[in-house]
Amino acid sequence: MKRATALQTWWYVAIGGALTVGALSASDPMVRMTLHGVAAAQLLPVLLVAARRYGVTRRAAAVLACIGSLTGLAALVAGFDPVWSSASAAALEFVAACLTVAGLAALVRKRSGGTITGVGGDAAIVAVAALLAAWVAVGRTVGNTGFTTVVLHLQIPVMAVAVLLGGTLLLDTRNRTASSMLLVGALGGATGADLLSMLAAAGTATALAQHLATTLHVASFFAVGAAVLHPTVVPSNRHQPHRRAGDATRVAIAAASLAIPMLALAVWPARDGTDRAVRVVGVLLLVAAAARNVTKAVRAGRRVHDELLQGAQTDPLTGLPNRQVLLKSIHRLMAQGWEPEHHPTLFFIDLDRFKNINDSLGHTAGDEVLLMVAHRLMRAVRPTSTVARWSSDEYVVLCPDLPSSQAAMALAERLLTIFREPLALSQGDVFVAASIGVAAISPTSAASPEDLVRHADTAMYRAKDQGRNCIAVYDESMHERVSHRLAVETALHRALDRRELRLYHQPIIELASGDVVGFEALMRWQQADGTIVSPAEFIPIAEDTGTIVPIGAWALLEALSQLRSWIDDGVCSSTATMSVNVSPRQLADPHFPSIVSEALVRSRVAPQLLWLEVTESVMITEPELALATLRKLRSLGVRVALDDFGTGYSSLSLLQKFPLQRIKIDRAFVHGVADNPNDRSLVRTIVAMGTSLGLDLVAEGVESVHQLQVLSDLGCDKAQGFLISHPVPAEAMRSTVAALERLGHFPGLRGAERPTAVSR
Ligand code: C2E
Ligand code: CA
Ligand code: CA
Repeated sequence: MKRATALQTWWYVAIGGALTVGALSASDPMVRMTLHGVAAAQLLPVLLVAARRYGVTRRAAAVLACIGSLTGLAALVAGFDPVWSSASAAALEFVAACLTVAGLAALVRKRSGGTITGVGGDAAIVAVAALLAAWVAVGRTVGNTGFTTVVLHLQIPVMAVAVLLGGTLLLDTRNRTASSMLLVGALGGATGADLLSMLAAAGTATALAQHLATTLHVASFFAVGAAVLHPTVVPSNRHQPHRRAGDATRVAIAAASLAIPMLALAVWPARDGTDRAVRVVGVLLLVAAAARNVTKAVRAGRRVHDELLQGAQTDPLTGLPNRQVLLKSIHRLMAQGWEPEHHPTLFFIDLDRFKNINDSLGHTAGDEVLLMVAHRLMRAVRPTSTVARWSSDEYVVLCPDLPSSQAAMALAERLLTIFREPLALSQGDVFVAASIGVAAISPTSAASPEDLVRHADTAMYRAKDQGRNCIAVYDESMHERVSHRLAVETALHRALDRRELRLYHQPIIELASGDVVGFEALMRWQQADGTIVSPAEFIPIAEDTGTIVPIGAWALLEALSQLRSWIDDGVCSSTATMSVNVSPRQLADPHFPSIVSEALVRSRVAPQLLWLEVTESVMITEPELALATLRKLRSLGVRVALDDFGTGYSSLSLLQKFPLQRIKIDRAFVHGVADNPNDRSLVRTIVAMGTSLGLDLVAEGVESVHQLQVLSDLGCDKAQGFLISHPVPAEAMRSTVAALERLGHFPGLRGAERPTAVSR
């Protein structure tokens, strides 16, 4: 379809070409005039067709039709010789030229998406320059100031602007379509024709000029028709960004606009006073137009520069200075030195559980929170302070002029209070809290600005560790702890691959029979240099970093495989169980049940021989998740023990709500059970509660026979502890169990003291 219409256009062009050649070769002015009339008249139906076919706007079609009719009419009128006719022709052509400029300006604006700038300024320069040049060059030859001359003078600038606009249109490569080229070609043709007929009218040019002008007019009419008929008259992609005329082109236009009239002024000296006055006014106008253009360009450049600078220095969401600006401010402060009574201090503010807000209320709400917090922080500090956004939910305040360290603490408190009031989000009120780390900048400090912020950050983490919504002040020891921890984190990451992790096992005995009924697997980390790191040190780190998930999976399989081989080798009875500690992070992992069942399958251990020891923390922080996971584990046939019972909330409801089968009485109470009446009554309560719920009871950390005796009297079923055996490596278990069996019943239970622990 598009092809067919393009073909029709070319046919139309061919006919137009034939008529143009006809006009050129016709010697009879009447024939030429007729052809001119035909060319003008055919435009009207063509415009109608185009308007229907491509939806060319009615206004555009009307403008084109007007221009066509006016020029056609002008040509007709110019055919008659008297003076009035040449004046009317000039007037008609002038109106047509004005319409052309208006139409082109609208087109340029539309094609550029209304964003075009600078063209107006360029047009003004070109118009003034053309006016001046016309006055000096053409005006000279015309030599009179009649109506025709005035109109002709005005028309030259208008036509110059039309050419500029046509050129602008084509400078944008997107506009270099067949249709635009034809249109601009028509414009060029018409301009040339106008110039010629103008010169002819002014009596400067010959009849040949008029002949050529008519021919050009005929060609231009057909070019306009072809432009509106061609399918590319509809811009293919309106939404592409406009590419402006290059700076070089604009400079060239400006230079030419200044040079041409100046040359004309230099070549033709002023004729009289009026001429001189017109020339002076013209030059002044030209300078004004050029100056205005330069000012505009400079301003636009400065604006872009400012915007870029602003964008590079501020956080786009809150408008606060960003990290770079903050670091620079700290650097400047340290470099310039400060008054001895000043205590510059950094405050690192991190919102507590901001992720929850983002996750539950959405990112828009999150953004609102960040913005409001930024405003509150700004209001809470002095104008000399810098409030910067460090990263997503972290802000840093730099106060260069606090009078004392007490004032720093007072400010930290004040910063904490800005979170007391709820934040009024569009979705409703929310409360956020923050943890604040405070780090003083000392005048003797050799630390870099980055280090100083890191100190405040370290203190902030301490505040988080202390239960959030509080303040912590940085000191050197924190730094050492942090670097030590960092070293451990990195080494732990590789410990599994390097086979540095091992399991020790501690036997669990049944008090009534003295039999070894199970083992608890306890992890050890033997580092390359031989030092053994306690799990109390590295498990929390593994938990924080998430390394616990692969490490825990390894421990599970390792412990179960160990139990399998002990049972197979007759080290223990075939009903002995293995207890494996499970950290909260593992329990929150949705894959955990399948990791457990895979370990059971691979080790060929029956699920009822596995005890998973969990602490109550997950059941309190994420009860739904914990319940779901525990139910899945239960359905595998695995049993679950509540570890360290008595240290936390230890509520009865926890025992009722979750599918648990064992309580492990924490060694803190076992320790005092023999001598401390409070501990004893607590253990008594736990045993009573557990028994009534049908739970298995294990006392941990038993170190003396006396403790063991009391536990037995209180009705506790099982025990583990240094008294019975330290945790031992797997290869030592055979002798450990053998020694315990030789011992039979613990002598202490029959009232005697047991002399030594079995191993180590
Ligand atoms: P836990 O689960 O409460 O383990 C019992 C801890 O008490 C063990 O410390 C054990 O060596 C120690 N212990 C046993 N008998 C006595 C005693 O008579 N007196 C005293 N004072 N202590 C005794 P360990 O091996 O240092 O483990 C510390 C904690 O590390 C464990 O506490 C457990 O929470 C965690 N842990 C150990 N292995 C693993 C593991 O494989 N995975 C996970 N998630 N945590 C583990
Ligand atoms: Ca345990
Ligand atoms: Ca425990």
